[in-house]
Amino acid sequence: MNVPLLDLKEQFRTIEVDVRRAVDRVLATQQFILGPEVDAFEKEAASYTGVAHAVGVASGSDALILLFMAMGIGPGDGIVTTPYTFFSTAGSAAHLGIRPVFVDIDPGTYTISPEAIEKVLVEGGPPGVKLRAIVPVHIFGQCARMAPILKMAKEHDLAVIEDAAQAIGSHYQMPDGTIRMAGSMGRGAILSFFPSKNLGAMGDAGMVVTDDAALADIVRIMRNHGSRPKYFHATVGLNSRLDALQAAVLRVKLSYLDRWHEARRANAQRYRELFQSAGLVESGHIVLPARPPDDGKNGYRPHIYNQYVVRARDRNALREHLKKRGIGTEIYYPLPLHLQECFRNYGYREGDLPASEQASRETLALPIYPELTPEQQQAVVESIEEFYRQS
Ligand SMILES: *Cc1c(COP(=O)(O)O)cnc(C)c1O
Repeated sequence: MNVPLLDLKEQFRTIEVDVRRAVDRVLATQQFILGPEVDAFEKEAASYTGVAHAVGVASGSDALILLFMAMGIGPGDGIVTTPYTFFSTAGSAAHLGIRPVFVDIDPGTYTISPEAIEKVLVEGGPPGVKLRAIVPVHIFGQCARMAPILKMAKEHDLAVIEDAAQAIGSHYQMPDGTIRMAGSMGRGAILSFFPSKNLGAMGDAGMVVTDDAALADIVRIMRNHGSRPKYFHATVGLNSRLDALQAAVLRVKLSYLDRWHEARRANAQRYRELFQSAGLVESGHIVLPARPPDDGKNGYRPHIYNQYVVRARDRNALREHLKKRGIGTEIYYPLPLHLQECFRNYGYREGDLPASEQASRETLALPIYPELTPEQQQAVVESIEEFYRQS
């Protein structure tokens, strides 16, 4: 049975009529840059995310660059972040001459470790670098442990910028029981609408979300060459606008998003049951995704499963085996950022951030997309069972 890691064609079939109608609406107006579709999507996305302001931009990576620029974080400054993430969390900072200071992750959830952040804050970070912000990543669709992070940031006068690229619609439960949406907890946050995210555009797209009206306004100016009024530039910005066509498509898809999250959660639950009854959890061959210890109470399920990532014994050979069986998987991420060649000058060595390095060696993302069928999931688990029986 063929089981791709992600099948966007299947999703498109279910929304095709709506999407074509939305695209036609834009084609009829021939207004492709900003305009009413972008305005409307910004309002709808802000409301969905539980923030006051949303600014549509060209990608999640640009959203990070624009947010750093708008906050005046630049050369000589540092951000504390995780090495176990997509490149642009740190790449967007480095692009501006900001030093990413990497700290290790919690091995259970793969999110940044608040204890590791605290250690850096107490030690003060690398010499000559002024720490300005903590950038937690809600990796795979599950929020980082935000309560201690927000507390530390306050104590040390640092901003919190959430990389919520993989986590639109994910929740976090504060210690007092209040529930917050991913992207609504920091000074600002970024979303990505890369096609493989839970809310994916038909191309590149991203967004800055924030409750801070002044900050949103600066991002709005900066995404459009820093110009206001038109052709007058008090600052130097970028050309990084959200396309009207993408906004129109995203508006359609946003109306399905909660249903898709639910389908992914149901698939995750089915995997849990299948792996457990196959004995692969008990035997230690497979480690299922965990919930953070201060979260997930009372059956409350905050994860949106942008990726379903397990630890697997003999991961690389398992991946080869699954490939032969027609099952798509991916390694997120095979080399943590502190060991990337482009960051060699920061001086990290193998062994510096062991939990991240171990995760890079052991994790495997399995198909989890909403349209995945129970039969396909069964085929995935049976093929994994077969691999460990043979090995
Ligand atoms: C997808 C992603 C981004 C931004 O990606 P773009 O492709 O630029 O939209 C940033 N951080 C993380 C963690 C991501 O997964």
